[in-house]
Amino acid sequence: MILETAEKALEGHKLCNHCLGRLFAKLGKGTNEERGRAIRFTLNMERSIQELPAIGEPDECELCHNVFEKIPKLVEAMKKASEKIEFETFLVGSRFPEDIKKREKAIWEELGIETGEPINREFNRELGKAFGKATGKDTSNNPDVVFIVEPFSDRVELQINPVYVYGRYRKLMRGIPQTPLPGFEDSVASVICRAFSRAFEGKCVFKGVGREDVDVRMLGNGRPFVVEIKKPRRRKIDLNEIAREINASGKVGVLNLSFVSAREAEEVLTKNHRKEYLALVLVEEGVTSEDAEEVARKLTDLEIHQRTPWRVRKARADKVRVKKVHEAEARWIDEKHFELRLVTDGGLYIKELISGDHGRTRPSVTDLLGKRAWCERLDVLNILDD
Ligand SMILES: [Zn+2]
Repeated sequence: MILETAEKALEGHKLCNHCLGRLFAKLGKGTNEERGRAIRFTLNMERSIQELPAIGEPDECELCHNVFEKIPKLVEAMKKASEKIEFETFLVGSRFPEDIKKREKAIWEELGIETGEPINREFNRELGKAFGKATGKDTSNNPDVVFIVEPFSDRVELQINPVYVYGRYRKLMRGIPQTPLPGFEDSVASVICRAFSRAFEGKCVFKGVGREDVDVRMLGNGRPFVVEIKKPRRRKIDLNEIAREINASGKVGVLNLSFVSAREAEEVLTKNHRKEYLALVLVEEGVTSEDAEEVARKLTDLEIHQRTPWRVRKARADKVRVKKVHEAEARWIDEKHFELRLVTDGGLYIKELISGDHGRTRPSVTDLLGKRAWCERLDVLNILDD
């Protein structure tokens, strides 16, 4: 059956060994070129018994126009396109003209081929093998770079995949926004991204898991974040050195830096962590140590209905969120102040939990005390892992 089909194919079409072998790609092992050569050889032995002329390889294949002979030249073009880029793994994709794909389909239909492989798949594989051999790089389904090759115009396009780094940051001073804000020289994001952009030679995008206000410090084990470095020219970077550079700023510190996949980065960003806060509460009308203890007792395990705070109503959808306070502890300071240490669900606004935000947060410390309470200072002590 194979020889019969092959003979029909070669009598009707001028095919090279690649394109002949590819008609039977799903049968046996080896490359399509080896397969085609073996089939042609066997077929020509049969034909010599029948005293028919041998069908040799044509000067030009009518299907692929000898495109496989261009592989060494394209390998050189790929090396040139990537010579200043650091990468270990790659993938090859190719753009073949529509008329070649159509012609291949027509031959399959004409001969009833069900064991064929599309030309671009063979081409990508063979070009990938040749490039790997020439450079020592490996192919991967999650590659550092992707080459898109147009085999007939010799055009090579290089896509550089991003690098993702996970870490946690500590904001050691008040008065620094998380992301750039008019009127502030630096932000957490700009201090962190400056170091990453320089080392990786790419564009750095910072994403924090939630945020704290400008006047709030972020202490303890830090707030999780991810940076995405787009089109990095460097990848083999010592993250300890980056951490040292950021920590030298004295404003922002980072810890636990590690390389992650795109999916791991997404998981970090969508996880809702519980948080531990320390708030300094001001009560103008006066507060006793017993009042403070009582508020903490009532807050523990309390469900809070919080409508989007007045101050952020333009930036966030206006809705009521139900969040829980898991732990609350009070420490009386003086007749107008006490400290509250809180562990709450992520996404609960603490300043509004204390003030009540004109009734938008219920119940609040103001409600529980029966006196106007105000958050005078706030620190995030810890962002807790589950
Ligand atoms: Zn061919």
